[in-house]
Amino acid sequence: MTVADRFKPFGTTIFAEITSRAVEAQAVNLGQGFPDFDGPEFIKLAAKRAIDEKPNQYAPMGGVPEFTNAIASRWQRDTGQAIDPKSQVTVTAGCTEAIPATTLGLLNPGDEVILFEPYYDSYPASLAMAGAKPVFVTLHDRGGSFAFDEAELRAAVTSKTRAIILNTPHNPTGKVFSRAELEQIAGVCREQDLLCISDEVYDRLVYRDEHNPEAEHVSIASLPGMAERTITLNSLGKTFSLTGWKIGWAIASPELTEGIRAAHQYLTYAVSTPMQYAASEALGAPGSYYEELTATFTARRDALAAALERLGFKVNRPAGGYFILADHRGVSEPLGLKTDVEVCHHLIEHAGVATIPPTAFYDHKQRGQHLLRFAFCKTQETIDAAVQRLQKLARAGV
Ligand code: GLN
Repeated sequence: MTVADRFKPFGTTIFAEITSRAVEAQAVNLGQGFPDFDGPEFIKLAAKRAIDEKPNQYAPMGGVPEFTNAIASRWQRDTGQAIDPKSQVTVTAGCTEAIPATTLGLLNPGDEVILFEPYYDSYPASLAMAGAKPVFVTLHDRGGSFAFDEAELRAAVTSKTRAIILNTPHNPTGKVFSRAELEQIAGVCREQDLLCISDEVYDRLVYRDEHNPEAEHVSIASLPGMAERTITLNSLGKTFSLTGWKIGWAIASPELTEGIRAAHQYLTYAVSTPMQYAASEALGAPGSYYEELTATFTARRDALAAALERLGFKVNRPAGGYFILADHRGVSEPLGLKTDVEVCHHLIEHAGVATIPPTAFYDHKQRGQHLLRFAFCKTQETIDAAVQRLQKLARAGV
């Protein structure tokens, strides 16, 4: 074996595994969460122009000033907090680099970090890189809406706990943490002197409607006493349907930023210079862009949810993000299929539709076995094709 011990428990990511199975089986891919359409033309044009007109050598380690200024202005509009872009914003290779830059730069071996499960799979791997230990608190499935128990959160804290990782809107449940829930988490952070690492990459994808009338994205850093202990992570990919650009950032106090940069300078040093110029133009998108984006994703979510319900899945319309986490038992039990992995493989092979088995995101596997994750960040044609294939399989009764 050549893989280092720290990575052995993680194997190949579920996204790579399912995407390669999907390609092999020529399945419609509702697995890995990426749009199968591109972001707006004005941003792509800005990138082409930036290559011709802007510097193409290393960017400053923390980020191109035009871009970090744009990030700081957006942060002030969102939270009312003025930050210094030079000492509080670090541009990273997607949020995926920002996560290990934060864990490596701020945690010590043996530190414990609380993760809500289901969790995005980068978190435990990034903790392992830092020698830190995850402690899991479950978002319990209460009939399709997911919630943690405050007593369980409090009980998870020990003298070694150093941080809580939060993700809102949440992958894979589609939960948008309410202000009241964030107050509870913030309360624990303040009382126990913990950091909060808050992954907010889906912050622009919130679907406030009759299904989730209260849905609203709140940055936990905006709550009292949290700015100085929160690292807020975000990226361009989800908001602008440009997941391949790999442009992300971390916002934190100057002290915490020093830690993040201690790692970032040796991970990537800096991120693609022209793309950062283009990214600063992206952040200037008009309000209508975001309205259209959420309207489009709401329609795709509803089309997929309605079709899944007709097939016998139990679905709660998610309040945010890219995914529907459906209860598959109404469909799988009559077929004698039990786990999410069995159902996932069955659908790839027999229907030609790929999904993600969410037990990949659980430490307590049995708590996620009844669920299946479907991505709806796809064109209407892709969703229609997947639905037709699932209906055909249902008609065949296998
Ligand atoms: N964030 C994407 C998802 O949850 C996957 C990203 C990746 O493949 N690493 O599907």
